[in-house]
Amino acid sequence: MKLPFIIIVDDDEHVLRAIQRDIRNKYHKDYRVSATDSANEALELIKELKLKSETVALFISDQRMPEMEGIAFLEKAKEIFPEAKLVLLTAYSDIEVAIKAINEIKLNYYLLKPWNPPEEKLYPSVDDLLDEWQAQYKPDHEGIRIVGFQWSPKSHALKEFLSGNLIPYKWLDVESNSEAEQYLVSSNVNRDSLPLVVLKDGTYLSDPLLPDLAQRIGLQHTASQTMYDVLIIGGGPAGLAASVYGSCEGLKTILIEKSNPGGQASSSARIENYLGFPNGLSGAELTRRAMTQTLRFGTEILTPKTVKNIRLQDGYKITEMTDGSEVHSKTVIISTGIAYTKLEIPGLDKFTGAGVYYGSASIEAHACRGEIVYIIGGGNSACQAAMHISKFAKEVIIVIRRESIKKTAASYLIENINKTPNIKVLTSNEVVSVEGDNVLEKITLKNSLTSEETVLPAKALFIYIGAKPGTAWLNNIVLKDEKGFVITGSDLIKEKKFNTFWKLERKPFMTETSVPGIFASGDVRYSALTGISSAVGEGAMAIRFVRKYLEEI
Ligand SMILES: Cc1cc2nc3c(=O)[nH]c(=O)nc-3n(C[C@H](O)[C@H](O)[C@H](O)COP(=O)(O)OP(=O)(O)OC[C@H]3O[C@@H](n4cnc5c(N)ncnc54)[C@H](O)[C@@H]3O)c2cc1C
Repeated sequence: MKLPFIIIVDDDEHVLRAIQRDIRNKYHKDYRVSATDSANEALELIKELKLKSETVALFISDQRMPEMEGIAFLEKAKEIFPEAKLVLLTAYSDIEVAIKAINEIKLNYYLLKPWNPPEEKLYPSVDDLLDEWQAQYKPDHEGIRIVGFQWSPKSHALKEFLSGNLIPYKWLDVESNSEAEQYLVSSNVNRDSLPLVVLKDGTYLSDPLLPDLAQRIGLQHTASQTMYDVLIIGGGPAGLAASVYGSCEGLKTILIEKSNPGGQASSSARIENYLGFPNGLSGAELTRRAMTQTLRFGTEILTPKTVKNIRLQDGYKITEMTDGSEVHSKTVIISTGIAYTKLEIPGLDKFTGAGVYYGSASIEAHACRGEIVYIIGGGNSACQAAMHISKFAKEVIIVIRRESIKKTAASYLIENINKTPNIKVLTSNEVVSVEGDNVLEKITLKNSLTSEETVLPAKALFIYIGAKPGTAWLNNIVLKDEKGFVITGSDLIKEKKFNTFWKLERKPFMTETSVPGIFASGDVRYSALTGISSAVGEGAMAIRFVRKYLEEI
């Protein structure tokens, strides 16, 4: 455990030396003692300590100092470490000022100079103060801290990125958490430049871009090899499974993910149908386990990196990223899954991440405590999200166009929803407009039977209305169906032009695309079963075919 600090400030060299000596003699085993003759220097040190998640138990300051009076210094120090105890060193003539400070800045003690013998005049009081401080002290979070506005899209993106990459952080809402202000003061960052990310070493980034943040927290950014056996695009369940099996089987494996590993599954609050987990597990937990497993086997993961194209050169595959970098490999597995369908309502985009969310139930649910929350869509994901958010929200209202959710959601979910008193299903309704200044404030619902419109206050709107394949970037290098799903295996053979693009003696492997050595698995694959187990199975299967392909070349 890091030792707390005692900070002493006194411009008088002799007094400073004496108090520092006495305090060190008695407390050096349990506290780090730092002494300076400059109040400004002390304030800079205090800010640095806050950013580094250090803590201060006690400030001792002389009252009469040229840079600022002791009371002013203690008042500023208390803004950053409000729990620390405050001691003012005074001459007899300053007693009145000290007594006033007891009320004004909650001064804990004033110490008259000189304090000899310390055993009688110094230590008993300091012992009391430090005991009291120890009793109420709670260690600060030592990892990454994010300070921002709860409903800001930028804050939301940072939280989602870190949680998806399994990096723990502490969230501090600047409007409701008093500690947030301590970080703003310590970093000299104002509210216009939020979100603020404070790193473990005390350095900070104001309103960072994800690639910059990724670099600072040590996420791998460039490939270490010139050639890989298999390059996997997309880190959802299919991509993660492929990466585990690929690296486990000794293939040089690299995974490229545009945001955070875990894919759609990472936003699932509770997966109940995954083999071997009878009590269910969250998508975040499944991702954490898969990431640990694949990193253990030696997969390289590059994130955040977005693939924009695949080129072929002498049978090798060159994968191009939007940042201009390229990675070479013998095979590629496309596991880019599906992306949420946007709800087409004028002005809705403005609130994405600021009250409107696509599949972020597990991250944002806590922020919905005591609120009325709307969920659009009646499929399994929407129902799962409703169940999760209902633990925090006052009321969850599922809005669907149909007359019932019976045809769209699994029966066990419908049963759970019916048993949960604060979830309501509003049928034959749709959201037609949204309002708010910077964050979502109101929605308008239209009843399709009566055409009646109702404006309602809404703090959060979660949207689950289907998805389309993440292949817009894929141009025409592999064959896709009209919706964009990648066609593979026996479905390729059914294509009229099969013989024009397939020139090998053998037939395409089950997950192989129209280009030999490029595979697709998971939700992105045409005719895939969809779901986590299927995606995992297909990811593993793709590696089997990768091996077979590698034996051929
Ligand atoms: C809220 C929710 C709850 C769900 N609950 C369940 C459940 O309980 N049980 C169940 O079986 N299924 C569930 N599903 C469905 C399940 O999560 C998906 O079927 C599964 O995640 C599909 O996995 P995938 O790997 O094919 O694709 P995805 O999970 O979609 O992952 C694709 C990945 O590719 C990345 N990517 C996309 N394009 C690029 C690019 N150009 N460059 C780099 N990376 C890219 C994406 O960022 C993403 O991480 C749920 C889905 C949601 C949304």
